[in-house]
Amino acid sequence: MRLLKTLHYMDKISLIIPCYNEEESLPYLYKELEAVSEKMPDQEFEFIFVNDGSADKTMYVIKELKKGDERIHYVSFSRNFGKEAAIYAGLQKSTGGYVALLDADLQDPPSLIDEMYAILKNEDYDCVATRRVDRKGEPRVRSFFAKEFYKLINKISDTEIVDGARDFRLMKRQMVDAILEMGEYNRFPKGIFGWVGFNTKWLAYENRERIAGETKWSFFGLFFYSLEGIIAFSTRPLLIASLFGILFCIIAFFLICVIIAKTLIWDDPVAGYPSTICLIFFIGGIQLFCLGILGQYLSKTYLETKNRPIYIVKEQA
Ligand code: UDP
Ligand code: MG
Repeated sequence: MRLLKTLHYMDKISLIIPCYNEEESLPYLYKELEAVSEKMPDQEFEFIFVNDGSADKTMYVIKELKKGDERIHYVSFSRNFGKEAAIYAGLQKSTGGYVALLDADLQDPPSLIDEMYAILKNEDYDCVATRRVDRKGEPRVRSFFAKEFYKLINKISDTEIVDGARDFRLMKRQMVDAILEMGEYNRFPKGIFGWVGFNTKWLAYENRERIAGETKWSFFGLFFYSLEGIIAFSTRPLLIASLFGILFCIIAFFLICVIIAKTLIWDDPVAGYPSTICLIFFIGGIQLFCLGILGQYLSKTYLETKNRPIYIVKEQA
């Protein structure tokens, strides 16, 4: 069935656009999409808007656009499931041999799509992805933590996660099918793209501000998101917990030896209530920290084993 579908639409480009409260951006975006399709007149397109439980008129705008353009399709969720779920839904709905992911706010310039398509057609790549070369317009603190996060996760994860990588990319069907096979509940797209492999060419472009509306990311939102990324694509923190354990056993062993020796040789049992309390706090803290790490993995496993759907569709067309 899938083979048939793939053969049938081999040359079509599917564009997937996750939208969460994007009523203001969508008209601008659609204009750009039209411009792209005019630049590639012989190319068949399909635009898949995924409405991720928006609270504004996003769904209305999409329906209005659909009236004038039959290439438009949509999936609307029953509530906000997150961009990751929206991407997954869009990939499932796509029928093209080439599939692109695109933000609704025009931070990802749709005008790059013909260049990306040409690369996939003429060169031996399965995917053309984009990364930003700078972080203009972003708060300094955020850029700093983002950089540190990429350094850290690449050190502790076997999956390569590229600094500044956007989700904006054009993929061949084969790669899309590979991503669809990863049906995990905790989805961290940047990790998933890296994990499935395939040849990826990176295009760099300068960061742009969003055309309208506001970003959905707060600083702490991003912070917890990065922790999820680490947990989803590395088990190294568990190893760190074990190493802490071993290290503290060794230290404790030496301390015990010192105390026994002191008592036997100099008859000098160490007095010191404060130092004892400090140690208890310190070791107690480390223990809770490690237990927390364990708990994080356990909670992810718990959610995974429930086998809940990644998203719930309210309507689609
Ligand atoms: N988005 C979504 N669901 C969410 C949050 C965001 O579908 O829960 C969409 C949003 O509409 C936009 C894209 O994901 O098209 C990127 O979101 P945003 O611009 O807020 O993120 P940023 O560009 O700041 O990383
Ligand atoms: Mg954005």
